[in-house]
Amino acid sequence: MQSLDGESVVVIGAGVGGLSTACYLADAGADVRVIEKNEQLGGRASRLERDGFRFDMGPSWYLMPDVFERFFDHFDRTPTDYYGLTHLDPHYRIFFKDGDEVDVTPELERTKRVFESYEDGAGEALERYLEKSRENYEVGMEHFVYEDRSKLRDYLDLDVARQARGLSLLGSMQGHVEDYFDHPKLQQIMQYTLVFLGGSPKNTPALYNLMSHVDFNLGVWYPEDGVGGVIDGIAELGRELGVEYETNRPATGIKGREGAFLVETPEGPLRPDLVVSNADYPHTDQELLPEERQGYDADYWDSRTYAPSAFLLYLGVEGDVDELAHHTLVLPTDWEEHFDQIFEEPAWPDDPAYYCCVPSETDDDVAPDGHSNLFVLVPIAPGLEDTPEQREQYRDLVLDDLADHTGTDLRDRIVLEERFCIEDFANRYNSYNGTALGLAHTLRQTALFRPPHRAKRVDGLYMVGGDTTPGIGVPMCLISGELTAEAVLEDHG
Ligand SMILES: Cc1cc2nc3c(=O)[nH]c(=O)nc-3n(C[C@H](O)[C@H](O)[C@H](O)COP(=O)(O)OP(=O)(O)OC[C@H]3O[C@@H](n4cnc5c(N)ncnc54)[C@H](O)[C@@H]3O)c2cc1C
Repeated sequence: MQSLDGESVVVIGAGVGGLSTACYLADAGADVRVIEKNEQLGGRASRLERDGFRFDMGPSWYLMPDVFERFFDHFDRTPTDYYGLTHLDPHYRIFFKDGDEVDVTPELERTKRVFESYEDGAGEALERYLEKSRENYEVGMEHFVYEDRSKLRDYLDLDVARQARGLSLLGSMQGHVEDYFDHPKLQQIMQYTLVFLGGSPKNTPALYNLMSHVDFNLGVWYPEDGVGGVIDGIAELGRELGVEYETNRPATGIKGREGAFLVETPEGPLRPDLVVSNADYPHTDQELLPEERQGYDADYWDSRTYAPSAFLLYLGVEGDVDELAHHTLVLPTDWEEHFDQIFEEPAWPDDPAYYCCVPSETDDDVAPDGHSNLFVLVPIAPGLEDTPEQREQYRDLVLDDLADHTGTDLRDRIVLEERFCIEDFANRYNSYNGTALGLAHTLRQTALFRPPHRAKRVDGLYMVGGDTTPGIGVPMCLISGELTAEAVLEDHG
């Protein structure tokens, strides 16, 4: 068995990818220290706690439970050793702004009837669509997600090429969904999952229809204590394996190479044999490495397609918000304009598509008695002007919109309010232009076209997290940790 006995590794950043790879590396015998610039572990999956309210600041959908099971199983544990799980019913609710309301539930027959009510034959089309997406999920996970195909030659293998063709890798999601459903609302339901990948129906390859298998078939779950509870679990596992964590310790530079690194921090340098960076790729490449060691130039990072940023309102409110489910989407009937205002002509959306999360519907511990805890998330273009006046104006627009289209009027009931937007993403996570999620999953930024786990010009420096493969999302970043550790073991084990 390969081992990293005697190797010291510094992991920069305690996001899901950093925490995950730290577990794999410690398990392989390395002496692992994770340093994190912020005051808590979790990265984008941080928690906000105020006046008896507790919010997951970022991820709130626990999807792909199989990925978490596989992760913990590697260490002879199960997720339930660390947190319980509740299957949500409904998985989510959608309010279309013209007045319709649809629940997507764990019961497929019920969802088929809803689809049928919009379009003759759509129930059966849904079944076919989900069957295709299940096949894509199985092929995609086995051949492309769990295996790190970071070089073109990996794809020239005939068998792999055949699998890739089977996934209809090249077409857009828009075209793929239109092949099955004519009704625009059904198309929207099937395409919404792309927001998880930071893309739009036009710029995301059809391969990602596997996301429908994720949400319709594998289900939407709520972990005990929210996604923060999952972070606690992974960090706890790391401690059991010997990982050490230091918060409030930013890296300010990476010097040297394998065996003789100098990781600069305001508290003094660290001198590990190997370094893994979980900080956003552009930050590590352009701000932590000296110019002669950077893998890319500024033009490269400038020319990438970034996933949206987000305008977030964390709200503690008096009373219930019964109209909303744990997960609720509010969608304009024509949402092309919103996507255009994210990807084509960046602007604050006039008629936003947004998401509300109400964990207090499921969990009594996240809000004081008689109160509800919710957050509202509007995806917006990264790099927009983000001023206090703009936030104030947009907050009013969103709360008015929520009242108009869901019947949930929060305006006189808010007892706690925090806002989080582009500037906060940039400052808190060192994210490029304040993107919430990193590099979008366009065709040109999928699989081998994402930046590699091995830094291009520094031996012994590795990258992990949402900007690498497989990509965005908590499950993907967990897997990214596994792939990065495999690369380290291949080179040093
Ligand atoms: C609002 C929002 C909602 C989301 N919803 C979901 C969801 O419902 N389900 C889902 O699966 N995913 C969701 N995601 C995506 C998911 O949260 C991310 O893809 C994932 O958590 C990113 O993990 P990562 O490994 O890339 O690390 P990150 O979370 O990006 O963490 C990187 C860490 O590095 C630290 N760092 C940066 N620079 C330095 C430095 N110089 N020195 C030390 N530390 C540094 C940062 O502070 C951060 O803690 C959401 C994300 C956001 C923002």
